[in-house]
Amino acid sequence: MTNKHIVCYSGGHSSALVAIEVVRLFGKENVILLNHNINPRYEDADVKRFKKEVADYLELPITYANVNDIEDENELPNQFEVCEEKGTFVNPATRAILCTFVLKTEPFYNYLKTQEKENICCYYGFDADELNRVERRRTILIQDNVETDFPIALWSFELIKKYNDYKVNELLKVYNKVNKTKLDKLPQEYLENAISYGLLEISKYDENKKQTINSTNEIGIKPPLTYDVWKHANCRGCLKAGQQHWYVVYCVDYETFERAKLSEEIIGYSFGNFGFLKDVESKFKQMKEIGIPASEHIPSGAFWKSAKQYLKQSTQDLFPCECFV
Ligand code: SF4
Repeated sequence: MTNKHIVCYSGGHSSALVAIEVVRLFGKENVILLNHNINPRYEDADVKRFKKEVADYLELPITYANVNDIEDENELPNQFEVCEEKGTFVNPATRAILCTFVLKTEPFYNYLKTQEKENICCYYGFDADELNRVERRRTILIQDNVETDFPIALWSFELIKKYNDYKVNELLKVYNKVNKTKLDKLPQEYLENAISYGLLEISKYDENKKQTINSTNEIGIKPPLTYDVWKHANCRGCLKAGQQHWYVVYCVDYETFERAKLSEEIIGYSFGNFGFLKDVESKFKQMKEIGIPASEHIPSGAFWKSAKQYLKQSTQDLFPCECFV
């Protein structure tokens, strides 16, 4: 039986909603708000304000699991330093980005080692459009005997049904691959086996689990301002993010952009799949000059399609006009 509820409290809005729901359902006595603190140069001050205000509202302390148990946040290494120390941006075995592992995953597992795993459940703020992340996290932690739950993605009958449809579809893909078939529906017998092995969520539906709040504005706490331009409350200059993120970094925090360029020079590789920052910088400069908005909220496809069009237009503008020929 679960007797400790650990909320993976990232400082983002979704994880704050999760914390509120978990405390409302189970009471605050056995809830832990677990955070991996980030050096204040790379975590927005408003994210720090937000996580503290929500914790104060819940009357709970924030429990920090930090790299090397460093307590002073100003002493925490940043994402560039931890990669430079290892001489790589990725874990050579898994190709996963290294800073997440050093700053978050490893301290998380070190913290878990101090707990009785059979009795805990970890809660994450993934939403209903992130079912692949739900699935991955659940699968990883179950191997360690740790239960997981995802209030925003799973706390209603409709959401559980959506998750089940997703799982059935994934099982169908595996079935078709293994049996070299092209069925559009999982055979009934196979489906029943999946249910009996607990591979679907439907059996765990609990009517007490429901979302009571959609925004922290409802309890008088403003979501972090960082969401004005950023989509996540991640480190500023996130090594896992794509080119659009780095265009925004170029526009709003050039010092971090420069720091990342230095890191690429020290390590000798680029961290993104879009090449070295020094090579895309002139394009970013031009995009900024012609007024391409610095925002992560524009869907990536639309963002780059219009950026390309405007860049082409502005290059044509550089050519002499017809009467000049
Ligand atoms: S948020 Fe980005 S930069 Fe920060 S630890 Fe995670 S992957 Fe690295």
